[in-house]
Amino acid sequence: MTAMKIPKGFRFGGVACGIKPQRRDLALVVSDHPAAAAGVFTVNKAAAAPVVDGRPRVPAEGMRAVVINSGNANALTGPGGLDDVGVIRGAVADSLGLQKRSVLAASTGVIGQRLPAMKILAALPALVEQLGDHPDLAAEAIMTTDTRPKMAAREVILGGKPAVISCIAKGSGMLAPQLATTLCVVATDAAITPRALQDALARAVSTTFNMVTVDGDMSTNDTVYALANGLAGNPRLSEPGPDLDVFEAALRDLLGEMARAMAADGEGATRMVEVVVTGAPDDACARDLARSIASSPLVKAALFGADPNWGRVLATVGARAGSQGFAVDPYKARVALQGVTVFEKGAPTDPDREGLKGRMRESRVDVLVELSDGGARAVAWGCDLSYDYVKINADYSSLIIQKEDGGVGKDDKVANYSPAFKRSLLVEALKYIAAFSGQIAVIKYGGAAMVKDSLKEAFAEDVTLLKRVGLKPVVVHGGAPEITRTLEKLGERSEFIDGMRITDAQSLPVVEMILTGKVNQELVALLNARNAGAVGLSGKDGSLLKARRATHESGRDLGRIGEVVEVNRNFLKMFLDQGYVPVISPIGLGEGGESLSINADEVAAAIAVALGAKKLIYLTDVAGILASAPDGDLVRQLTRADLKRMLDTGAIAGGMKWKAQAIQAALSGGVERVHVLDGRQPHTVIAELFTDRGVGSLVQP
Ligand code: ADP
Ligand code: MG
Repeated sequence: MTAMKIPKGFRFGGVACGIKPQRRDLALVVSDHPAAAAGVFTVNKAAAAPVVDGRPRVPAEGMRAVVINSGNANALTGPGGLDDVGVIRGAVADSLGLQKRSVLAASTGVIGQRLPAMKILAALPALVEQLGDHPDLAAEAIMTTDTRPKMAAREVILGGKPAVISCIAKGSGMLAPQLATTLCVVATDAAITPRALQDALARAVSTTFNMVTVDGDMSTNDTVYALANGLAGNPRLSEPGPDLDVFEAALRDLLGEMARAMAADGEGATRMVEVVVTGAPDDACARDLARSIASSPLVKAALFGADPNWGRVLATVGARAGSQGFAVDPYKARVALQGVTVFEKGAPTDPDREGLKGRMRESRVDVLVELSDGGARAVAWGCDLSYDYVKINADYSSLIIQKEDGGVGKDDKVANYSPAFKRSLLVEALKYIAAFSGQIAVIKYGGAAMVKDSLKEAFAEDVTLLKRVGLKPVVVHGGAPEITRTLEKLGERSEFIDGMRITDAQSLPVVEMILTGKVNQELVALLNARNAGAVGLSGKDGSLLKARRATHESGRDLGRIGEVVEVNRNFLKMFLDQGYVPVISPIGLGEGGESLSINADEVAAAIAVALGAKKLIYLTDVAGILASAPDGDLVRQLTRADLKRMLDTGAIAGGMKWKAQAIQAALSGGVERVHVLDGRQPHTVIAELFTDRGVGSLVQP
């Protein structure tokens, strides 16, 4: 989990109260001290009940808590909707020993369905019990169609005192307009008056959230709350001055990060775009142009195709200038894509088209329009318009089902999609199935996919399916989180070099017990519950992995860490020929029969080479290979040479270094395609293998 700096005196929690079928759907942010509060709301006239309730109550002093539910928007629910907000605020206040007027509420989800307040009330004891350093759980509980939680923090110095500004947010999923809502809670320990906080928040929102164009529609529930409890102890900010500027700049920066995260996480989005317009006659014009470019369907479709189509960008500028009467001359503009000038001095330039096209495939695209008509500047964020967006939205309305009790369910069985969509999906998949039949695929199972139950289930399903369609899967697993946890319980701290645990003779039995005795057996059981024919093997079984002790490149002794010397290919082949799925724990057989712990990435590569596998798949806990960790862009395709360069420059580090080295070895040994996939998402293996567009990083020789 991303560690977020917590402002003093704030506690967070998030639980599942049952509005949504399974996921967390109720969040609480509490300040242990009375806080100044501010809020910015949707201007939609059909505002939801919590907005109607909250709007007149900020800016104010003495606020203590914000309660948020997802799954149900409590919008257009009549007078009963407002009653529900009151009941919930009252119950939250009671369970925290506060006054009702110090509690604010927000909701997101389906419109027009009465909010099941009882479910929320029933979950409050557990939620209050859980309150603590859990902004991640709160951020998760407010998600609707977001694919990942959004939270961040900034540290500032105000009057010589350190203060933290944190926030959790959710974006608009674009799945359907009525579900497109921005919710955000800013929590800070800075001391600031409600009025100053309100002004700073409103200005920060206008250049950040208000510049995200996802589908252009304003929801009924958009709400941004800010609570400032003053525990940082700085002189209270109230009048304009350097400290207030520092605070506002940090707030803007923070909300800007959230805005970009929302754009990048738009439904079906494969990449995000940041549009910067400079040199405009005034702010309103700059903002209009930036937003219009980011929301132009033609620009968005070109982005999806990685087409450096600057003509559509300038056409949008010209169209807005003409229709809005802006004093802007597109011919005098300079346009740059990914920093490469493509239009200047009234004419197109002659950039390296292939190079530029390659750069347009990155997960973030920068568009710059430099006008020479004034001094105003604006930035807008959006995303591309993908096939998936159209497919999903064309068939969407049947997918959200409203249940009797006010909860919602998602009924996304393929049966609900249009016949044309089903046909293309099947044709696409069957093509791959035919091509893969009889091929060996080695899958390294690691990262988040190993920890969360639902992901484990999805992984077992995927492996079983692969086998059913004629592929021969071989699974190699790690077990790092489990090992660290157990060693800690036993009072042993793990020491790592480059993400590799130094394992002494004492901890080796624990490592082996967990890998071979627990993780391996659990995985085998999960697979065989689906009749996958899994066989659990340690590298010691049948001398599958002969190993020797390894030393670190620094010359440091790594204890009982080994490297693979030889794979017993015939032994493994025997299982594959009989239709079994080998599940291998990365324990090697050292000289004299000692057990050695080997990095599972290396084991997977060695096995893939030994078996002559064409495919090697790494499931991990990041989106794939990133241009730089932890926040860089996903690199979708790369060669062995690219990988080497990234290793040399230090762009790849930590655990990914081992994978990168293993991938190089696999490619040298004849493996044709190595995939690095996001194990935090369910079914990525299937999505990668059976659809036209890959989902992670693909490394080829
Ligand atoms: P696994 O359980 O999949 O083996 P690791 O933690 O060993 O996971 O390796 C993945 C980690 O490598 C990522 O979580 C990330 O912190 C780190 N890493 C370092 N550099 C990169 C990079 N360039 N791209 C992706 N991940 C990187
Ligand atoms: Mg690892």
